[in-house]
Amino acid sequence: MTEYDVIVIGAGAAGLMCAAQAGQRGRRVLVVDHAKKPGRKILISGGGRCNFTNYDVTANNFLCENPHFVKSALAQYSQWDFIGLVATHGVAYHERDHGQLFCDDSAKDIVNLLLAECDQATISQRYRCEVHDIEQEEAGFRLKLNGEPVRCQSLVVATGGLSMPKLGATPFGYQLAEQFGLTVLPTRAALVPYTLHQEDKTRFADISGVSVPCSITTESGVCFSENLLFTHRGLSGPAVLQTSSFWQPGEAVTIDLLPSESLKDVLVAMRDKHPNQTLKTALSRLFPKRLVEVLIARDSLPDKPLKQLDDKQLDQLHHYFHQWSIAPNGTEGYRTAEVTLGGVDTHSISSKTLEARDIPGLYFIGEVLDVTGWLGGYNFQWAWSSGWVAGQHV
Ligand SMILES: Cc1cc2nc3c(=O)[nH]c(=O)nc-3n(C[C@H](O)[C@H](O)[C@H](O)COP(=O)(O)OP(=O)(O)OC[C@H]3O[C@@H](n4cnc5c(N)ncnc54)[C@H](O)[C@@H]3O)c2cc1C
Repeated sequence: MTEYDVIVIGAGAAGLMCAAQAGQRGRRVLVVDHAKKPGRKILISGGGRCNFTNYDVTANNFLCENPHFVKSALAQYSQWDFIGLVATHGVAYHERDHGQLFCDDSAKDIVNLLLAECDQATISQRYRCEVHDIEQEEAGFRLKLNGEPVRCQSLVVATGGLSMPKLGATPFGYQLAEQFGLTVLPTRAALVPYTLHQEDKTRFADISGVSVPCSITTESGVCFSENLLFTHRGLSGPAVLQTSSFWQPGEAVTIDLLPSESLKDVLVAMRDKHPNQTLKTALSRLFPKRLVEVLIARDSLPDKPLKQLDDKQLDQLHHYFHQWSIAPNGTEGYRTAEVTLGGVDTHSISSKTLEARDIPGLYFIGEVLDVTGWLGGYNFQWAWSSGWVAGQHV
């Protein structure tokens, strides 16, 4: 029977990082994936340019039942370490808003970087490979790869979450965790667009493609200031994706469509200067015209000259645009979600090594764990950090 020191299941971001590290420590490593090639999510990430990390990474950028869990791995292998690796491989990158780092050319650069790191050691890779019948033995694990039995001392589960099943996402990691008696916390699609109730969907259908800067606040009080994008299915854009991780079904979100100014002050100033200007014209100077038209029609805003608007109406308009409340119908789900909330409960995993506390040799890394980053490169940073850390211990 073929024996390895380490078998990594999942040749995604975390799995490749872990394999490269373990291999460079001289461990005999095999990486397996049921997909036909490695890093498929990396390739499509960040619109094809992979937002591979962020200049500003703290534990606050992650959702996890155990909020301290991520700290050790992020400290052991930080964003600066990965940025250093990117520089070593000569990958050109740039910063966008909020410290997000993207490849200049292509997300392929990141996959090539990881494969080059794997090539620095002799790491076996097998694709289109199905994993079955995992059993714990005295000194490791026995499993079948496409029916062939193999053995390893350390088994690393890096099979990711449930988002984008068409790219190969499966619940394999959760099922394996349960097989070994570990708790799996309920999962939910996150970093995902909202869908709308039919009435709202019809009303906003005409402004599909319109994007506005805004702040969105969830009922739990979490607020993100980014762009909101109207789509033919509902609401998307970074502000929506960010809040979706904190939104609960049935809740409304409050949208401030003019987060940096007071609408009342602006309208009063406009009224003083151009008293005969209509409200619609005035609002169209602040917001996309198509959005104004839909909102005026939808909520019967008083489209009359500014001079006819009294204080009460200005207050109502102010409230309307700064605290526009809308209840999503749901989300687009795993089909388009970037990540999965929930997963393998971190309470049973060592934050220092990523090894399951009660199952020596079994490691969980990356998104399969109950660790979900914000939008902005945090999910990859978690994959790099957790993969690197496990790679030092397997
Ligand atoms: C469209 C999109 C864009 C994204 N953009 C960004 C971004 O720009 N920045 C960012 O930080 N994050 C981004 N993410 C999130 C990021 O891709 C993931 O958080 C990250 O890839 C998780 O790494 P992972 O190694 O844990 O899992 P994955 O990268 O998903 O890798 C898991 C691997 O396991 C394999 N696998 C699954 N089941 C089995 C099985 N049963 N047997 C064998 N192999 C299996 C899969 O084929 C896959 O190769 C994006 C996600 C999506 C969907």
